[in-house]
Amino acid sequence: MSLLKNIPKIDKFIKNKTFENYSDKLITKISKEKINKLREDILSKKVDEINEKELIKEVINEYQYITKPSLQKVINATGIIVHTNLGRSLISEESFDQVKGLVSSYNNLEYDLKEGKRGERYSHIVKTLKNLTGCEDALVVNNNASAVFLVLNTFAKNKEAIVSRGELVEIGGSFRIPEVMSQSGAILKEIGTTNKTHKTDYENAINENSAIMMKVHKSNYSIEGFTSEVNLEEIIEVAKQNNIIDYYDMGSGHMIELPYNLQSNEPSILKMMEYNPSLISFSGDKLLGSVQAGIILGKKELIEKIKKNQLLRMLRVDKITLSLLEVHLNSYLKGEIEKIPTLNMLYTSIETLSSRALYVKEALEGICKCELINTSSLIGGGTTPNKKIPTIALSIEYKNYKPNKIEQELRKNNLITRIENEKVLLDFRSIKQIQLDEIVAIIKKVYK
Ligand SMILES: *Cc1c(COP(=O)(O)O)cnc(C)c1O
Repeated sequence: MSLLKNIPKIDKFIKNKTFENYSDKLITKISKEKINKLREDILSKKVDEINEKELIKEVINEYQYITKPSLQKVINATGIIVHTNLGRSLISEESFDQVKGLVSSYNNLEYDLKEGKRGERYSHIVKTLKNLTGCEDALVVNNNASAVFLVLNTFAKNKEAIVSRGELVEIGGSFRIPEVMSQSGAILKEIGTTNKTHKTDYENAINENSAIMMKVHKSNYSIEGFTSEVNLEEIIEVAKQNNIIDYYDMGSGHMIELPYNLQSNEPSILKMMEYNPSLISFSGDKLLGSVQAGIILGKKELIEKIKKNQLLRMLRVDKITLSLLEVHLNSYLKGEIEKIPTLNMLYTSIETLSSRALYVKEALEGICKCELINTSSLIGGGTTPNKKIPTIALSIEYKNYKPNKIEQELRKNNLITRIENEKVLLDFRSIKQIQLDEIVAIIKKVYK
């Protein structure tokens, strides 16, 4: 009983000098919880002494745990450049610096400086996209999933959207085309078979309730063997003849030529625009290498209709997204693609990767066993399925530790590696030059 009497009184406890530089409110909340817990533990005889010093330490630890940012920097040594779980495309510090002043200041987001009246949020980006792609008009929304939803809802609500069975994709985070369609109010009209869809399937599917002919990029799978699909050019032709809208959900979408023959079957956005499509959409942060966004390009009258959809208000982007996207699109216009980290990584030569790997290997001499390995990485993020690009990796071995153990220990220090053929690898394809010393420091810390 006497132990219960000695439980610190909350009012006095929180006045302890140790708490001086911490938030009163949060310290009080945590202290109450800890003291209540202590009372319960005494009553249930789990505890038979009171250590106030220890209690204070626990409160401080909890405070630090709660207030530590949950989003943290990691080093991506998986080799996967567009890593969906690690934040997809990176924004260069230089690009970020360019928009810092704008987003921390009032700006002309929806203000026409010439006329002195309300302006259009999307106008800033339309100019750049027109110059870059030759589109009639454009719109930017929260992400490409929103773009798909918005296009279908605007044009195919209670009407039929024709899609090939071979393109009913599910991508990461359970984005399923058939389900997005039904949520948008569009009626899915499946045509063809899983492996083969012909032009005549599209033609035969058309009836008075058809609104849109949709093509979907096979982002994370490929169909091999006895196959045929109808390309965008032909779909546009059939749609035009029948007076309905064609729409290509490009998924990733790239603006420039890709190395390693990555685009063998995947023309760039610019190539697609030459076919004069009604509408196309793609992600801002896959191979375009910018911010999370969904970019819709197409005919002016159609974009105008989308802009009148009330849903746009829910899916619209803010000044941070728009300004960063403008900076990146300008880099494309000016031919400064080295300012786009995703492309930079994709284009880094094997020689450069080798010399970076060698640098780390030498710095780790005597610490752990490292070996340079010629291998390949995937780009990831639903961009180019099954396509591998050459890379250089460094295997990390320590004593007789199992790869899983090493992977875990490095991961606890925010260094994310991958395991291949029973070896822990640092894949230099997704590692930046400026991270080399940091990597060495982490490994030295773990295996000193
Ligand atoms: C990635 C992808 C989407 C979704 O794009 P987000 O920008 O992630 O919303 C939609 N369709 C296809 C084909 C994709 O590859």
